Amino acid sequence: MTIQKNISLTSFNTFGLQATAKEFTTIQSIEDAQALLTSDIFKNQPVLILGGGSNILLTKNFDGLVVKVEIKGKEVIHNDDENVLLKVGAGENWHELVMYCVDKNLGGIENLSLIPGTMGAAPMQNIGAYGVEIKDVVESVEAIEISTGKVKTFSNADCNFGYRESIFKQEAKNKFFISSVTLRLSKKNHRFNCSYGAVNETMTTLGYDTPSVRAISEAVIHIRRSKLPDPSVIGNAGSFFKNPTIDADAYALLKKTYPDIPGYIAGNAMFKVPAAWLIEKCGWKGKRFDNIGVHQHQALVLVNYGGGDGKKIWQLAMDIQASVKEKFNITLHPEVNVIE
Ligand SMILES: Cc1cc2nc3c(=O)[nH]c(=O)nc-3n(C[C@H](O)[C@H](O)[C@H](O)COP(=O)(O)OP(=O)(O)OC[C@H]3O[C@@H](n4cnc5c(N)ncnc54)[C@H](O)[C@@H]3O)c2cc1C
Repeated sequence: MTIQKNISLTSFNTFGLQATAKEFTTIQSIEDAQALLTSDIFKNQPVLILGGGSNILLTKNFDGLVVKVEIKGKEVIHNDDENVLLKVGAGENWHELVMYCVDKNLGGIENLSLIPGTMGAAPMQNIGAYGVEIKDVVESVEAIEISTGKVKTFSNADCNFGYRESIFKQEAKNKFFISSVTLRLSKKNHRFNCSYGAVNETMTTLGYDTPSVRAISEAVIHIRRSKLPDPSVIGNAGSFFKNPTIDADAYALLKKTYPDIPGYIAGNAMFKVPAAWLIEKCGWKGKRFDNIGVHQHQALVLVNYGGGDGKKIWQLAMDIQASVKEKFNITLHPEVNVIE
C-alpha cells in the first residue's frame, strides 16, 4: 500500500477545483481495501472514497485520506438465452462499460451513455437519464463493510433505490466501500425505453429506422454532447440539484401564479418540478461571478470557468436555494456530494 502526501486533487474532480489531499492512496482489490481498513492511517483521520470525482464539490483541502477505488474487471457470472449477469469492478469507467455493452448488443444501460464516473459510484445515487435508472438493471451490489472488513452483498431491494437515492447515501453512508456491481443485461427481446421524444427524433436524424441498443446509445450521446457542458472544457459536476417533488395542492397553487410551470406526475399525488426551470425563473441562468457561475444554457449546472473556489460555488448554490425557496416556497436539495 503506497500512501502519497499532499496530492493535488484538481485532476480528480470534474469541477477542476484546486484542493489537496493530506494523504492519498488507491485500492485495486478487495484485499487491498481490507488491508487498508485495519491500518492506523485509515482509522485515525477522515476518509473520502473517490471514484471519478464527477459528483463531488471540494470546498477546501481534504485534511485526511483520499482512497481512489480502482478495482477493475468484468466477468459474466451467468448466461442464459435471454440475459447475462455481468459482474463489474467498482473502478471500471461507466461510459466505457456502456460502450462495451453496446458492442456486444447487451441491453439495459444504453440510455445511460456518456454519464461520467465509475461503476462503484453509480448505485450510490442511482444514476439516471432519459427514462432509465441503474436500479432497473442492478442484480446486486457487493461492498466491504468498513467497521469489519466483511464483504456483504446487497440485493436490488436491499439498496432501497429511489430518485437519485439509495441506502448508500442514507443509513449505509460512509459505512461501505462498494467493490463491484452485478448487472442483469438483456441479450435479446430488449425492452427499450424511448419515452423521451428527443431520443426518438435523434435516432431518426441519425438514420436509424428502429430502436436498437446502438441506436439509442448514439442518440443519447448526440443529445448530451449538444446540451451538457464537457467537464474537460468547463469544470462542472452535472446537475447540481435534484428535481424537487411537491404535493398536488402546492403544485395547483403555484400553477395559478405561474401557469407555465412544468410538472410531471410522480405518484402518490405528487408532482416533480424541473429545478432548472425554478432556477431560471429566479434569474440565475448564465450569471457569472468572476470565475464561477451558472451555465448559460443549463441553469441546473454550476460551473468553474478555471481557478474557481469550491467554497464560493457552495455559497452560490445556497444563494440559489434561498431564492427558489423565497419565490416558490420549494426547497432544492443538492445532488452533488459536498465535501466540507
Ligand atoms: C457532465 C456531467 C453529467 C452528468 N450527468 C449525469 C446524469 O445524467 N445522471 C446522473 O445520475 N448523474 C450524472 N452526473 C453525475 C455523476 O456522473 C454520477 O453521479 C456518477 O455516478 C459519479 O461517479 P464518480 O465515480 O465520479 O463518483 P465520485 O464523484 O467520485 O463520488 C460520488 C460519491 O460516491 C462515493 N463513492 C464513489 N465510489 C465509491 C465506492 N466504490 N464505494 C463507496 N462510495 C463511493 C463518493 O465518496 C461520493 O460520495 C453527471 C456528472 C457530470 C460531470
